[in-house]
Amino acid sequence: MTEVATSVVRTRAELRAALGSAPRPVGLIPTMGWLHDGHRALMQRARAENATTVVSIFVNPRQFGDPKDLEQYPRDEPRDLAIAEAEGIDIVFAPGVEEVYPPGSDTTVRVGAIGATLEGAARPGHFDGVATVVAILFDLVGAERAYFGQKDAQQVLVVRQMARDLAIATTVIACPTIREPDGLAMSSRNVHLNAAERAAAPVLHRALLAARDAWAGGERSGYALRDVMQARLATEPLSRVDYVSVADAATLRELDRVDGPALLSLAVRFGTTRLIDNEPLG
Ligand code: AMP
Repeated sequence: MTEVATSVVRTRAELRAALGSAPRPVGLIPTMGWLHDGHRALMQRARAENATTVVSIFVNPRQFGDPKDLEQYPRDEPRDLAIAEAEGIDIVFAPGVEEVYPPGSDTTVRVGAIGATLEGAARPGHFDGVATVVAILFDLVGAERAYFGQKDAQQVLVVRQMARDLAIATTVIACPTIREPDGLAMSSRNVHLNAAERAAAPVLHRALLAARDAWAGGERSGYALRDVMQARLATEPLSRVDYVSVADAATLRELDRVDGPALLSLAVRFGTTRLIDNEPLG
């Protein structure tokens, strides 16, 4: 079997031309690059389920509130292209900012209640930026399916809601979180952790598992489960908690009691690096 080389396209016109003759169905994996095994898992799933796979690599300025955060986001395109090639990806779409947002671009997707809590509350405008770029990518690629990581659980809900509300036919598929052996969820941002912070960071997963164990043992109070996470996070002096949450899995409203499917989630800072993680219940 001969592998066809990955084609790298940078403009809307090149993307259209590359997709014109591509066999269907098409699977899209939107990323911001600095690819790791979490992204690879999405690529492998997309390859298994589609005739053509498209990875987009675009650090989307509209989803960053802090210009310094945008500037410091890690980038290594040659390495990313090698990974996409090794995973047998057919097309990499790596546009510049003006290709995604041409001069004069003046429309934003405004996300409703599903984007107002948790990451949306901590990062105002973040999900509007995500929904806007994903709507553009969905339209440009016209994929049958798009693959997202459960690691960004609220993002999955936001994107699904956006696709439903804007009548975009792409099906949103959520894939499990891929972790380092010590439990830390893989993330492009992990590269910013210094050695001591990296050693402390698995406490996020330990806090989630402690709350999950309490739930499995019959604890149903949202307050008690939040306390379990806070207590575990407090064992790491380098951690500064942004939020811990026990929320309804569909609406992300905070729960007093867990009586159905729920989502444990948290955001924690180590120095200047902010990490998030989550664990579904039920
Ligand atoms: P990013 O490049 O960080 O925007 O991520 C691109 C996609 O990969 C998003 O759908 C993320 O949720 C997903 N992703 C990032 N990290 C992981 C991980 N550790 N496991 C699974 N999916 C991930």
